[in-house]
Amino acid sequence: APSIVWFRDDLRVADNPALHEAAQRGEPIVCLYILDDASSGLRPLGGAARWWLHHSLEALASSLRDIGLELTLRRGAAADVIDSVVTETGAKAVFWNRRYGEAERNVDAGIKSSLRAAGVEARSTQASLLFEPWTVLTGQGAPYRVFTPFYRSCLAEPEPRHPLPVVDEATLFAGVTSDALDDWSLLPTAPDWAGGLREAWTPGETTALERLRAFLSDELSSYVAEQDLPAQDATSGLSPYLRWGEISPFQVWHETRSYVASLDRRTSEGTRAAEGASAFLRQLVWREFSYHLLFHWPQITHANMRPAFDDFPWAEPSPVVMEAWQMGRTGVPLVDAGMRELWQTGIMHNRVRMVVASFLVKNLRIDWREGERWFWDTLVDADPAANAVNWQWVAGSGVDAAPYFRVFNPELQATKFDPAREYIRRFVPDIDAETYPPPLVDLKESRKAALDAYASISKDRALGEPG
Ligand code: FAD
Repeated sequence: APSIVWFRDDLRVADNPALHEAAQRGEPIVCLYILDDASSGLRPLGGAARWWLHHSLEALASSLRDIGLELTLRRGAAADVIDSVVTETGAKAVFWNRRYGEAERNVDAGIKSSLRAAGVEARSTQASLLFEPWTVLTGQGAPYRVFTPFYRSCLAEPEPRHPLPVVDEATLFAGVTSDALDDWSLLPTAPDWAGGLREAWTPGETTALERLRAFLSDELSSYVAEQDLPAQDATSGLSPYLRWGEISPFQVWHETRSYVASLDRRTSEGTRAAEGASAFLRQLVWREFSYHLLFHWPQITHANMRPAFDDFPWAEPSPVVMEAWQMGRTGVPLVDAGMRELWQTGIMHNRVRMVVASFLVKNLRIDWREGERWFWDTLVDADPAANAVNWQWVAGSGVDAAPYFRVFNPELQATKFDPAREYIRRFVPDIDAETYPPPLVDLKESRKAALDAYASISKDRALGEPG
């Protein structure tokens, strides 16, 4: 009887434990992806994410063909789809890699128990995180709320496992009907806003691995010095690939570690690359921390982690102000450059994300959830954990957050991190034109108004507890 491998946020054949286990079972395999827009509680994908998913599924289908398998596409509530594919194929086992959002876990748990009740084996595996959120705990057995001790605790864990090789002995279970990808309409039609995305990105696991390797050999030694400079191509650009699981954190971890092991530490280049590797893997652990928080405090995606912020006097998000921010027409050059980079390419440099977020939440005093929503719709790496966690970090409403009174000054940030204005000019070529708008708000006055608003809420209310 065949096995089903249910692909979700793990759109790769390399280092894919679910696929591996199915191959080991030895029976013919059905590879299934479900576009689930029906199960309750799942957040609909944003536009940029849908664009990415379309191309990622094409790439996955091609990787699967290389090993003799086929990708079956179905749409609907996952429980119903799994049920019908099991019935159609007579499958006796279903394998998948874990996900960590609350609604996703509920869906998966429901499916697991009904499969088991029907005598079908159901197995879930660790594939998307180096450290399962329930295994990294404080001395008191509680989840971490602060990054640095979490990070130290991860480093004290046993080394993450090595990536699994691509399976080479898998048999296809043929004849399962599949939807046509084009019928899912994941791509924009009119208007086709995806031109900049097509230029900037090639989704898929082959590109992900090439990108990682190019980053290690070309960029790692300057990562520490340049990671904060948006004009440089100094970071890995792996976030959308990690978001969709086109590369696993285990691959990133071990490729980086073995690259470092090959370096000559007696040279300054070698030393700098080794330092770059530590800084880079530390960022990867920020991703782990985001999921740790999402797992233990699922409400982090929509509720202030510090309930004091429930009383914050946010400004009305007027359509005019929101559109100026979204379209990069605030008259504040670094903010506009970031927002235009996002709109055109589906990505924004981390430093600039902090600046545009601070500008929205503090200078414009707009609730972080408005910004999180826009990012969710426009980022190709829109991530259920990292997006909300980072917005709450900037807003000051999160755990281990930057304090609200730390207002980024976008002018000083530009001077420091884009001194030649190269990044700004790339995305705001009209900066000297008459049509470029004057600043939407006075930076000094709006900063003061933000601090006054902050002074009006009570600071002594504890962090949110799991609801
Ligand atoms: P690198 O510097 O090469 O880092 C390697 C990897 O580490 C990244 O690919 C990413 O997976 C992880 N990482 C790095 N920084 C962070 C971080 N602060 N938090 C969590 N993981 C991190 N990242 C997302 O992946 N999805 C999001 O939706 C997202 N939203 C954000 C919203 C705001 C307001 C801010 C300030 C940051 C957000 N980030 C998000 C984090 C960060 O900006 C991106 O991960 C980073 O810019 C990706 O570029 P890179 O892959 O070149 O990073």
